[in-house]
Amino acid sequence: MSPENNYDSFCSKGVFGFIMEDLLISAALQSNFYKKKLSNVNVREWSKIPLTTKQELRDADPYDLLGTAIQNIATYHETSGTTGKPSPSWFSFDDVDMEAKFTVESHLRLTEDDLVLNRFPFALAIPSFILYWACQLSRAAHIAASKSSLLTPHMRVIEIIERVQPTVITFIPAEAEIIGTLARSLNIPLPTKNLRCLVLGGEVVSPKRKKYIEALWGVPAFASFGSTETGGLFMTCHHGNYHMKNPIAKVEILDEEAQNVPLGEKGEFAISIAREGMPLLRYANGDMAEIREATSCTCGSSYPVLVHYGRKSDHIALKDRTLSLYELQDIVYSLPYVPMLWRAQVYPDQIKFHYQMFGMEKTEDMRLCLEGELRQHLGVDVSVNFTELVDEADLTSVPHYSKFHYVEHFTHVLV
Ligand SMILES: [Zn+2]
Repeated sequence: MSPENNYDSFCSKGVFGFIMEDLLISAALQSNFYKKKLSNVNVREWSKIPLTTKQELRDADPYDLLGTAIQNIATYHETSGTTGKPSPSWFSFDDVDMEAKFTVESHLRLTEDDLVLNRFPFALAIPSFILYWACQLSRAAHIAASKSSLLTPHMRVIEIIERVQPTVITFIPAEAEIIGTLARSLNIPLPTKNLRCLVLGGEVVSPKRKKYIEALWGVPAFASFGSTETGGLFMTCHHGNYHMKNPIAKVEILDEEAQNVPLGEKGEFAISIAREGMPLLRYANGDMAEIREATSCTCGSSYPVLVHYGRKSDHIALKDRTLSLYELQDIVYSLPYVPMLWRAQVYPDQIKFHYQMFGMEKTEDMRLCLEGELRQHLGVDVSVNFTELVDEADLTSVPHYSKFHYVEHFTHVLV
């Protein structure tokens, strides 16, 4: 039975039963990691299957996580490791086909008429590759303009966008903000000719942030949700919601006792995915999320909606409530002045906002206005200072990283 058929037969079992649990368990048992982890577990009872943690994946031998023979593997990836030891991730050739199909069939609707400028980093992370595979499948043209390459600084990307006028640009959301702000400051009209949409991935995108980025670029933005370990999971519909339409994934939202929370309540995200290269069972990656009825979106999809609130470690404890990164974004992107880049430093007695405005005069009145607004929204002491989170001189320069020159010519004589 194909995963699609499994999925169809399982739809009637409710929002948490997206895929036959048997399929997930048998996929997981292909890896040595799960053979060992589940050796004394009665897998017939789903709720008795222990959660898989980020730490376990970090500590595991990458080869133990393999869900298939190495001959079937197409690519190897790792998480950035910025919050600890990196986690490995394997993608089989079948996974590659599925990722491409899933992206092409989303509301993004890539076709052979598209020219995609791919600004996702092309080193270790997965989103850049997913978009590239999707371009190959849909016969869309592709430009690799990796965020992680010295060959493509911000100004170079702007030049390429102006020169070839891509129809789709993929960005980490912060890059969409930096490059969009930079283009505006250079009086480059946005949207550029032919541009029809953006694809955002790799960071939380709250509704207000999405709206801000769409206004900056003048085109709709789709967001992609997933991770290096899981691969691409869900792509937003044209109304901006993640419908849980993934034939090989099962989502659970859990409370602190690892029990499912009711629909419409926030809890810890746990994902099971029957990915051939690296299957995962009840993987709780530290993200917070919520599932809402499909009817909470008016696009017509019958699949429930996932709201992603970001990492639990990014949550801020306020006097009367806990604020997720998603909720904090909605506050920051509704302020009278939205920065190009920002960071909140949380202290026991204060939240310090570092605000990088670019191409705009910064006044004391603006700073005081922002402090007042943020204090009102958060109900705690707030300070705002204008700063350079990224080097502004670097934004407008194009360093010449090029091939090594073996021969140099000079016009002056030496003797
Ligand atoms: Zn929708």
